[in-house]
Amino acid sequence: MSDLAVGILGGAGRMGRALVRAVTEAKGATVIGAVDAAGNAEIGKDLGVLAGIEPLGLVLTDDVRALFGKADVVIDFTVPGATVENARIAAETNTALVVGTTGLEPEQQAVVTEAGKRAVIVQAANFSLGVNLTIALTRRLAQMLDDSFDIEIVEMHHRHKVDAPSGTALALGRAAAAGRGVDLDAVADRGRDGITGARTRGDIGFAVLRGGNVAGDHTVVFAADDERIELSHKAGDRSIFARGAVRAALWTAGKPPGFYTMQDVLKL
Ligand code: NAD
Repeated sequence: MSDLAVGILGGAGRMGRALVRAVTEAKGATVIGAVDAAGNAEIGKDLGVLAGIEPLGLVLTDDVRALFGKADVVIDFTVPGATVENARIAAETNTALVVGTTGLEPEQQAVVTEAGKRAVIVQAANFSLGVNLTIALTRRLAQMLDDSFDIEIVEMHHRHKVDAPSGTALALGRAAAAGRGVDLDAVADRGRDGITGARTRGDIGFAVLRGGNVAGDHTVVFAADDERIELSHKAGDRSIFARGAVRAALWTAGKPPGFYTMQDVLKL
């Protein structure tokens, strides 16, 4: 069987470059091109050179439609506005799309979810195996513990990250809320400051740290009187997200249109 043809959106980005490396290392997948925003200074440069590996003989372009025209699956780690457009093109062309972009507003998310009616869409706020196991365990623990255990989610990322809390922290929050049978929006407590009053029983709190080059640390704390359970995951390098996204891309082959998550890919 021939290799799966993989296109990359956001090719000049931190994740885009890691994705070029990960696809090149993966069995059964080949990079066929990468795109970044029009006007990006790296357009025209060799994808391998940008990724810090040997030249691939393919250059970064700004032609999204041409990329969708020749790819079996496209991996998108860009910005929310671009991801919405990319989801529309995926639906129109019935091309599988793996979405890693975070920070989508509800109406932007609705477009991505809707695209799953026409194309295979796999979306995850975090593509690492360890985080997806942590999400599954968080749901299970929240199911087993009552609300005498306060749930707090702490995350830390590098100084360049633009959205907060991280998409992964929110995914952990949604898993905790689902385990308790409640809606996260109804119980989320984000950004405490000043005289906040005492904690409301059943709330799920978020705390955010930014600094250095931290690839992504997440801890879910279940705190009761006199005892505390903490589930922690620490990402050492963003290659774990890239490898997971490539695993998701390979998984899309032959799947019927639908909206899927990494929990489906990993059969959790
Ligand atoms: P980055 O800023 O380094 O890269 C984003 C790239 O997208 C930039 O090169 C930018 O020019 C490009 N871009 C912007 N508009 C575009 C367009 N219209 N078409 C094509 N490219 C466009 O950011 P990053 O650290 O690589 O992260 C990218 C996204 O992925 C963020 O939302 C981040 O939170 C998310 N992320 C997700 C995971 C995960 O596992 N799901 C892991 C890490 C990062």
